[in-house]
Amino acid sequence: MSVDQRLVKLLKTIQHFHPTADTDVVELAFNFSKQAHDGQKRLSGEPYFVHPAAVAQILADIGLGPVIVAAGLLHDVPEESNVTVADIKKEFGKDIATIVDGVTKVGKVKYRGVDRYVENLRKMFVAMANDIRVIIVRFADRLHNLQTLDYQPVRKQQRIALESLEIYAPIANRLGMGEIKGQLEDLAFRYAFPDEYQSVVDLMDQARPGRERILRIIQQKLTGELEKNGLTNFEIHGRAKHVYSLYCKLLKYDHDISKIYDLIALRVVVPTVADCYRVLGIIHQRWAPLKGRIKDYIARPKPNGYQSLHTTVFCDEHEVVEFQIRTPQMHQQAELGIAAHWHYDEKGSFVPNKNFAWVTELAKWQKDISDNQEYLDKLKIQVFANRIFVFTPKGDVIDLPEQATPIDFAYAIHSDIGNHCSSAIVNDVIVPLDHALNSGDVIEIIIDKNRKSPNPDWLEFVKSSNARNKIRSFLRSEKQSILDRFLKK
Ligand code: MN
Repeated sequence: MSVDQRLVKLLKTIQHFHPTADTDVVELAFNFSKQAHDGQKRLSGEPYFVHPAAVAQILADIGLGPVIVAAGLLHDVPEESNVTVADIKKEFGKDIATIVDGVTKVGKVKYRGVDRYVENLRKMFVAMANDIRVIIVRFADRLHNLQTLDYQPVRKQQRIALESLEIYAPIANRLGMGEIKGQLEDLAFRYAFPDEYQSVVDLMDQARPGRERILRIIQQKLTGELEKNGLTNFEIHGRAKHVYSLYCKLLKYDHDISKIYDLIALRVVVPTVADCYRVLGIIHQRWAPLKGRIKDYIARPKPNGYQSLHTTVFCDEHEVVEFQIRTPQMHQQAELGIAAHWHYDEKGSFVPNKNFAWVTELAKWQKDISDNQEYLDKLKIQVFANRIFVFTPKGDVIDLPEQATPIDFAYAIHSDIGNHCSSAIVNDVIVPLDHALNSGDVIEIIIDKNRKSPNPDWLEFVKSSNARNKIRSFLRSEKQSILDRFLKK
């Protein structure tokens, strides 16, 4: 595709989802980025600009608007050219510059294969991103990098694939972005665990011929049942099974594919919640449900906002089939999650479910949606406001409560380090043990092997329940052993 064709396609996609949007900024960003990356090449030999253009297209395809798409076009400019974030701010305003800056910073969070720090890394990624739009651009960037990973050296393929599985996909999941999560996982799985990937693909292929025939038959039967019951406005489609999620299930069930009930799965989309329950009733009238497999995620949504009714039934010929029943809004939420809130169609805005705190907040802010500063300030994630992220001398991230001290840090590493802690060095300076740490501090703990037990005075200033509990339990067991010795005498 030529550069001009890319621009035409990009603008068309945005206009499809946002008929009244002003796309001038996208055109401007397109040419600005093309200019900044001029002469640069990707490892594939293609012009570098192909990458930001592809990232922008991914964002436009999921229905995002001109601001995020423009940020996608510019996301690698500060890192890869001599144009700075300040230049971008001058040209495109604070809003787009902030997203680009965030994307560049989050790019510095790297997974180094230490499992016990994975959760902290995920949190830091989110905390550093600060604005959910940064995370969305980063996801699109990662999707395109995974699509073109063949050109990277094997070691880098491995690192990026594992990082995608361990850091990116779980965050996508938590934000309810089911479709992006599935794509990230399937693309990464192939590089991270090639043999396992192949065996799952083979397994799916073996099951496929029969599966598709059964799907068609059941789809016809259900269509008949729904029409008989007076339903006219519905869609039924087969659901693509993601390779990685099937692999995870196989691991859980000892590789026994007969225990996996959603291999044959159909999705029914109906206009209202009442229709969802009607469809469930109609399905259960026709086919017997499996015990314990009816799940009402409409009444009780998943923490990430996911809503649907699930049921698994014995269809004719003893086939086990899973149904997911939902409204179009629930479907959009399930696929796009938090990104759905930037996605407006002609039908108007989306009604989010109340159980997802971020979504409720976002909904409030949506009222005065415009690219104004006040709106953006509110958009910043508050969740991590009372946490700090500090580093070990090796650069691993430790997540602590605000005002935490070197003692909290020491216990977060290991109780032995805490119990034997004698002094602390923060950013190369010796500090008192009750010193309040700040995000970004590098902390080294000096231990004294001769120290027999933690100092009870520490309880006065530690901030984490982890440190407090470990100090208390040590002191308690010490007291107990003195008592034991006394009683034995
Ligand atoms: Mn990039």
